Amino acid sequence: MVEIHPFKRLRAWTLLAARDQGQLISVTCDYCRVTHRYLATDLIELCGNVTLDKVLRRFRCEKCGKKNYLNMTLHVPHGSEFGELPVRRLREVRTTRIPVWSDDVLR
Ligand SMILES: [Zn+2]
Repeated sequence: MVEIHPFKRLRAWTLLAARDQGQLISVTCDYCRVTHRYLATDLIELCGNVTLDKVLRRFRCEKCGKKNYLNMTLHVPHGSEFGELPVRRLREVRTTRIPVWSDDVLR
């Protein structure tokens, strides 16, 4: 596990770099002690090739709903972890339709 301090080096590393190095993006809520691992390719599909600090800002803990306890690290999987290590895959991206109204007069 490569530990990266969120405020120091996440800005210097992109999702494409993580993908090319075979690194998984590991996001932990230090409050709930829940960790999810993501494939860089899935996050690129969602966010584009951005730096990791920008990716972390888009996450929110599903359990407590908080953002400020989230911690991101990079994980280089060992050979024995293939077929074993749980990862979260992007199944689909839903687009929400939000109505925007304005008051007008009958014309
Ligand atoms: Zn949490």
